[in-house]
Amino acid sequence: MTRGPTVDRLVIAVDGPGGVGKTTACRAVAETLGWSHLDTGSFYRAATVVAMLQRLDLANEAEVMRAVAAVELDYRAGRMLVEGIDMSGAIRSEAVTSQVSGVSALAGVRTLLVARQRSWVESRGGRAVVEGRDIGTAVFPSAPLKVYLTAHPAVRAVRRAGEASAGLEAVREGLARRDHQDSTRLVSPLARATDAIEIDTSHISVADVVNKVLDMCTERGLGTA
Ligand code: C5P
Repeated sequence: MTRGPTVDRLVIAVDGPGGVGKTTACRAVAETLGWSHLDTGSFYRAATVVAMLQRLDLANEAEVMRAVAAVELDYRAGRMLVEGIDMSGAIRSEAVTSQVSGVSALAGVRTLLVARQRSWVESRGGRAVVEGRDIGTAVFPSAPLKVYLTAHPAVRAVRRAGEASAGLEAVREGLARRDHQDSTRLVSPLARATDAIEIDTSHISVADVVNKVLDMCTERGLGTA
């Protein structure tokens, strides 16, 4: 897939592990700028749902790729659509959460989904706040602003436990397992880009995170275009 020259020049790339507050902060930044927000994790979750519904062997890269290539995926107003059907609830199930890191480690699946993420952003003229694990390192490596959010594991577990039906200890273990899988996979592992600005969200409010990112946008003249 070819990319227009302007796309990377505008994108705000936000990476980090689960439970650091990426989605809340990215939504607010995008809303303030009047830009689009893309949660790339939803694509990997949707691919996992598609493979699970077809009862595929999730380790069979060719089979999972074939299934993912055949479906239409779209992300609109914070909702994940698979073949036009809103799967936003299904992609957050515990079954999907426990399997998604295996699916996202499949190189061929990443290639398919990264192409879709790039064209999604391109179709919005590049004016997008894009969150994930590899946005600053692999999807939009020339993004003019890269942010890497972190938080203490205990804080992240408490945040995620509030959204999940599982208990705190199960959530903490699940996050640790996903962190390990996501940061040790061979293709585009979770990593802070060398030029990313790190923000520890453990002890600051969402509003503070949003303001810090907006200040960085102003410094770089982003959001005025
Ligand atoms: O952000 P979220 O927790 O919904 O992401 C679910 C999973 O999708 C991650 O644990 C990771 O395995 C995968 N992912 C990824 N690359 C991205 C975004 C998410 O591999 N850019």
